[in-house]
Amino acid sequence: MRKPKAFDAAACRAEFPLLADPPGGKPIHYLDSAATAQTPTAVLRAVRRHETMSRANVLRGVHFLAEAATNAYEGARQAVADYLGVADAAEVIFTGGTTASINLLAHSFGNGLAAGDEILLSELEHHSNIVPWQMLAERRGVVLKVLPVTDEGRLDLDRLDGVLTRRCKLVALTHASNVTGAVTDVGRVLEAARSVGAKIMLDGAQRAPHGPLDLPALGVDFYAFSSHKLYGPTGVGVLWGRRALLEAMPPFMGGGGMIERVSFAGTTYAGIPRRFEAGTPPIAEAIGLGAAVDWAKDLDWAGATAHEMRLAGRILDGLGRIKGARVLGPAGLQNRLGVISFAIDGLHPHDICQWLDRRNVALRGGHHCAQPLMERFGLAGTARASLAPYNTDADVDALLAGLDEAAAKFA
Ligand code: PMP
Repeated sequence: MRKPKAFDAAACRAEFPLLADPPGGKPIHYLDSAATAQTPTAVLRAVRRHETMSRANVLRGVHFLAEAATNAYEGARQAVADYLGVADAAEVIFTGGTTASINLLAHSFGNGLAAGDEILLSELEHHSNIVPWQMLAERRGVVLKVLPVTDEGRLDLDRLDGVLTRRCKLVALTHASNVTGAVTDVGRVLEAARSVGAKIMLDGAQRAPHGPLDLPALGVDFYAFSSHKLYGPTGVGVLWGRRALLEAMPPFMGGGGMIERVSFAGTTYAGIPRRFEAGTPPIAEAIGLGAAVDWAKDLDWAGATAHEMRLAGRILDGLGRIKGARVLGPAGLQNRLGVISFAIDGLHPHDICQWLDRRNVALRGGHHCAQPLMERFGLAGTARASLAPYNTDADVDALLAGLDEAAAKFA
């Protein structure tokens, strides 16, 4: 394993082929990592190594390729466990991504709930952490409660007491918002949830890409994230859960790989993690995710975070100088990620994105799969710039120059 090195943004960027050697030769100012991050050479190599040297199905065959594939797949599970700071790798379930993880939970954990039981969500949630629970509510009569957000775009934790009752069985909240960038004060949520005996699931899709976690210290019960936002391949993600809770949950999908014994008289299920991994899993993708978390574990995150926050500060300052610009999210840099959503009077978010696209600046525009939040702020959508360690001042310069130009021309 590489030794952690002091953070150097240019060296970091050089590890990402699409950015270091852009097709067409023009620099790419990629500010859409909250949607999907770029992937480093270490991940591409690991996937290629698997596909060219050990491609086979896992956990089934006895031949040497099957054994190599299984070892690599299980090695990836261990790498993820290390990244999450958990001792028991069997608690790491490979899924298709955050959405798949939350759907799994909504079915398997949700099956244990009764009509009238409550689940607490918030106005800050991505549709992935709303719709599966609404579908559960329809199936089982579970009641959804919603924690409001503050005008700054943070969870309004002062109102927790008003929405949490003893009927609450699960608090399912984002660890960091994909729209406002606000990072959740987990300690306060934990205290309130525990006081009513509720379990806690965090949607870590946005937080997980910003450095290793210590889930035991965080104290939550379930954690979901996607590989493609964490510098890994698409098509794979993770649901982590405490062993005792996972073992008590029935399977979600049935099929090969998740059973102990099948007969027409009845079927018994494998233990964790297999019970929740029916069918051939995303093998190469999981191996790529293993390489991605190994890569991320070796990064100097104190340095990378300081770098990202300095760039975020420049973006916020630049927006502050644009007439009619409004930031949807915390104005300061405390407890936030470099995810900056904004609107400019008279300019549609898609027009902002298209204008910037001409300068090779990649932004995201729209409702960001968070329509309840948009409604709360009276907006149809925003433009969003999101940062990763490989971004540089040149990316921010290009963004701000493009925005100044757009504001002068159209607003
Ligand atoms: N939650 C949050 C906070 C997200 O940002 C996203 C991705 N935009 C998701 C859930 C869903 O992730 P995926 O599409 O990878 O399942």
